Amino acid sequence: MEKRVRRRLVVRGTVQGVGFRPFVYRLAVSLSLAGSVRNTPEGVVIEVEGDAEAVDEFARRLPAEAPPLARIEKAITADVPLTGEREFRIITSEAGGSPTALIPPDVALCEDCAREIADPGDRRYRYPFTNCTNCGPRFSIVLGIPYDRPQTTMSAFEMCPRCREEYTNPRDRRFHAEPIACPVCGPSLFLDGRPAPRGISHVARLLAEGKIIAAKGLGGYHLACDARNPKAVELLRARKGRGDKPFAVMVRDLEEARRVAEVSPTAAALLASPESPIVIMPARAGGGLAPGIAPRQATVGVMLPYTPLHRLLLEESPPALVMTSGNLAEEPIVHRDDEARAKLGGIADHILSHNREIAVPCDDSVVRVEGDLVIPVRRARGYVPRSVPVEGDGPAVLAVGGYHKHTFCLLRRGEAILSQHIGDLDTAEVLDYFARAVAHFQRLFEVEPEVVAHDLHPGYLSTQWARSLPGVRLVPVQHHHAHVVSVMAEAGLEGPVIGVAYDGTGYGTDGTAWGGEIMLAGRSDFRRVMHLRPVPLPGGEAAIRRPARIALSHLRDAFGERAGDLAKRLLPSLTGAEIRVVLRQCERGLNSPLTSSMGRLFDAVAALLGAAPEATYEGQPAMELEAMAQEYGDGRVESYEVAISDGVIDTRPLVRGIVADLERGVAAAQISARFHETVAAFTVEACRCLRAEGGPAEVALAGGVMQNARLLSRLIHGLTGAGLRPHYHREVPPNDGGMSLGQAVIGAVSSGMGK
Ligand code: ZN
Ligand code: ZN
Ligand code: FE
Repeated sequence: MEKRVRRRLVVRGTVQGVGFRPFVYRLAVSLSLAGSVRNTPEGVVIEVEGDAEAVDEFARRLPAEAPPLARIEKAITADVPLTGEREFRIITSEAGGSPTALIPPDVALCEDCAREIADPGDRRYRYPFTNCTNCGPRFSIVLGIPYDRPQTTMSAFEMCPRCREEYTNPRDRRFHAEPIACPVCGPSLFLDGRPAPRGISHVARLLAEGKIIAAKGLGGYHLACDARNPKAVELLRARKGRGDKPFAVMVRDLEEARRVAEVSPTAAALLASPESPIVIMPARAGGGLAPGIAPRQATVGVMLPYTPLHRLLLEESPPALVMTSGNLAEEPIVHRDDEARAKLGGIADHILSHNREIAVPCDDSVVRVEGDLVIPVRRARGYVPRSVPVEGDGPAVLAVGGYHKHTFCLLRRGEAILSQHIGDLDTAEVLDYFARAVAHFQRLFEVEPEVVAHDLHPGYLSTQWARSLPGVRLVPVQHHHAHVVSVMAEAGLEGPVIGVAYDGTGYGTDGTAWGGEIMLAGRSDFRRVMHLRPVPLPGGEAAIRRPARIALSHLRDAFGERAGDLAKRLLPSLTGAEIRVVLRQCERGLNSPLTSSMGRLFDAVAALLGAAPEATYEGQPAMELEAMAQEYGDGRVESYEVAISDGVIDTRPLVRGIVADLERGVAAAQISARFHETVAAFTVEACRCLRAEGGPAEVALAGGVMQNARLLSRLIHGLTGAGLRPHYHREVPPNDGGMSLGQAVIGAVSSGMGK
């Protein structure tokens, strides 16, 4: 007689809301096993009973054949007494459950649904809100927990009998697909506020005519226009007041992506992934895109249609559309229909919307791919609220982030949950949005933070907001320490490490603006061991918009009296009067805080090499500088001289070397290549020395400058060659959008509570 057993499996990870239970059901039934599956606070609990061999096979196939979106982190197995059960059941709706597992990120259109909307015989033919357990909106429609239909914005739509049948049938692909919809019962399209069943075809025509369209998508509104029409692109730039910041482009398919960019296999995989981010890749000349898409850049940001609506639109519209966040400047993305009319009405000629409400706005995510490097630039749709595992136990922490590219982070029981990209936290409106997002996250993930970590900068709105919270323990965190620990947390490093934080500016413990820092860091503490030689930042943060002023400050530092004359020749965007004013400001320290920022050094060099006189977005000069070096290619170049003594990296010889090259008529591309080489070389040398003096071999490469792929790849190569182990971000951005992760971890270990 066959041997019968009953086994209990507790599975943890992203296993709820991803079609895991119906998968378990089908697997169990196919093996003739009885038992049950249900969600519990411990995770998904499965009990299977039947032939011992079949039970073994079940346990083997469970992780191997799990649905594409499921991520099994841990499975605990134990044999339990037989109950004699004869059927397999899905036990639904038990309160509790691991909250993060309950709310998956939004997922790009799957192939099954794509086939259905293309099939004239299917009842969802051309239906723009088609989804299933493997795809569709999630995080952006969730109002509360547990994650089921009444707690989403889909509660406004009553399922039709056929949808209900699919929703309740464990053998159906749409079993418990909470946003399930069809043309009979689901959301529908509107054009300029009026029902528009044929709205997509209409809008496709308008786009071909050069019109600008505000289109409601998954996490908010986009502004769209024909990316190959220079006039339409210029018009959109002008109406949006966008400056030079590159526009992302949505292309019809991979083939079209290959026309406009050098798509590596890594990039192709990311483009087609369930996360479906904007992928920044080397641009291909002659791809047909309007020159105004990415002025002065060697790269272009491309994504594929990730909702059925986008897929249907791109089939009929021009094959490449600008799809830029529908917002004003760095404000949060517009996601409400009334807001869209008020804010985007003046920019767009028409508004394509739908009546599925967006509960949580969520921008497109951005990832940069260059060679073997994958650098996260903005983490939002498709990734949030997936947690980052963090070693160690401690109190629940809220890290309120910084200012630029703001995100916040909740930390509890071994996982960090970062918010979506919020924007620049500098107005009451963004602050209000941030505060509401914090409340929403605390509710969704059932976290009541005991500790609140914030930046040292007293002027950040995030800092002031944190200080206004009652009954929490505050932990102030130095900006660049947070950046470094963010890398450590992702890499699972306890420290100590050599932390290289190359960044814009962040408040230092001495009150000056840091940003070119090499530190010895642990999770709770750090020691600043080296930094760039500080120079005045004339006019403070405002100088960031005028990189030539920062260049002048560096010229003054390197050449003294001669700086004025040099500036007249080398910095034509500065008037004589401006030069005098800036030099006087630097001299007297009038509103000219000292800064050791690497980002500002990049700005200065970019200005000397003829980058745009006006920086219209954060990091623009540095991005232009990298693009110049890419023009030079990978040929060998000599480093400039740099002197390091007493922990100060003296950049004056470097600036003198660049000026000498300029006066000899050396091309900007070559000078930029030499500059990148120099920064990589002195950084590797500094780390090598620290290691030789008994420092750690682990090096954390952090801060916004690490978005520079040319520098990062040279650092990785150089450090590895010197016997050191470089670590860098793969999950969260190296810019300030990833800083809240480090803040949270420092908050947990420094609060004096727990470990
Ligand atoms: Zn699907
Ligand atoms: Zn229906
Ligand atoms: Fe920073």
